[in-house]
Amino acid sequence: MKITKVEPIFIAVPYEHGGPKQMRPLGPWTRMETLFVRVDTDAGITGWGEAAPWTVFTGSPEASTAALDVYLRPLLLGADPFRIEALLATADRTIVHCTEAKAAMEMALFDIVGKALGTPVCNLLGGRVRDEIPLSFSVANPDFAQDADLIRQLLADGIRLFKVKTGFADHAEDLRRLAKLRDLLPNDAEIRIDYNQGMQPWEAIRRLRDIEQFRPTFIEQPVPADQRAALAAITAALDTPVMADESVFSPADALLVTSHHMADLIAIKAQKAGGMLRAREIAAIAAAGGLACYGGDMCETGIAGTAGAHMIAATQNISLGCEFYQPLYYLTEDLLAQPFAVRNGKVQVPTGPGLGIQVDEDRLRRYAI
Ligand code: MG
Repeated sequence: MKITKVEPIFIAVPYEHGGPKQMRPLGPWTRMETLFVRVDTDAGITGWGEAAPWTVFTGSPEASTAALDVYLRPLLLGADPFRIEALLATADRTIVHCTEAKAAMEMALFDIVGKALGTPVCNLLGGRVRDEIPLSFSVANPDFAQDADLIRQLLADGIRLFKVKTGFADHAEDLRRLAKLRDLLPNDAEIRIDYNQGMQPWEAIRRLRDIEQFRPTFIEQPVPADQRAALAAITAALDTPVMADESVFSPADALLVTSHHMADLIAIKAQKAGGMLRAREIAAIAAAGGLACYGGDMCETGIAGTAGAHMIAATQNISLGCEFYQPLYYLTEDLLAQPFAVRNGKVQVPTGPGLGIQVDEDRLRRYAI
């Protein structure tokens, strides 16, 4: 089989519920900007991938478009889609970083191979250790009253994992939001905390001891990505497990953090690692050091979310659930013909060949920009 066509499609889908409210100097996000790649073969099999950057974290959709269009497309044209590892190695020798573009390329290749073999992608990664994945929702609206309405709906939908984004307002306001959330949640719901690098190292330990009264399952990335000594000090000081997210992009980062016990947990994202295979290397390094992992996401539609679900289904050590909530709860329309599958608060891992999804191409092209 040979690849005959590689087409990047840059789209923007409007958000509902005010969007995920991540703070940024350009103002609130009103739409999700993401990049798809459609890969065709001479066997008539088409694979789909998604590069889902977040500009303050991994990069921009414009950079992903150029990476796929100018640098990765020539590598793929005429290549055998089964040679995934070799193509990834060539991609790394062709252009540095651009992990989202590489993740999109790898996703499309796995989709093609799974369809060719008539088996779901999770079976190409070792097979299922789980059929469904508990879904976590990120509570990120500075106006807690708006989030509260949505949280009531999520509880009725069976969701029990709530990750509160902290560190963008002042500390007292974080404590007030957490107290309101604790009052709203039933006893069987978990609170988790994510600072997205929002603390200064000097203030972190004393403030995080205040946060521990809410008994969060974990506290994610309190300090900037490169402040790993501070991350290690926080991990040693707190009873609550500390998770590294922005501090771990690559397997080498994971080795550093794991071997020096700079965190207790790692957030895994195919988009920051450059695909499912590299992400699973991170999970394996973490497992060897006794660290558990969580399935994070960037700003993803149901296509990248589905690839993430296959990866988590096949990886024992990504055991803390996932956060693929945006397709269902924030996009005005997902781009899948069947909605991204969540039942009773748990993502259902598809059973069809490849990614096991049908992309609604007419709908997708309506949002192309
Ligand atoms: Mg995070």
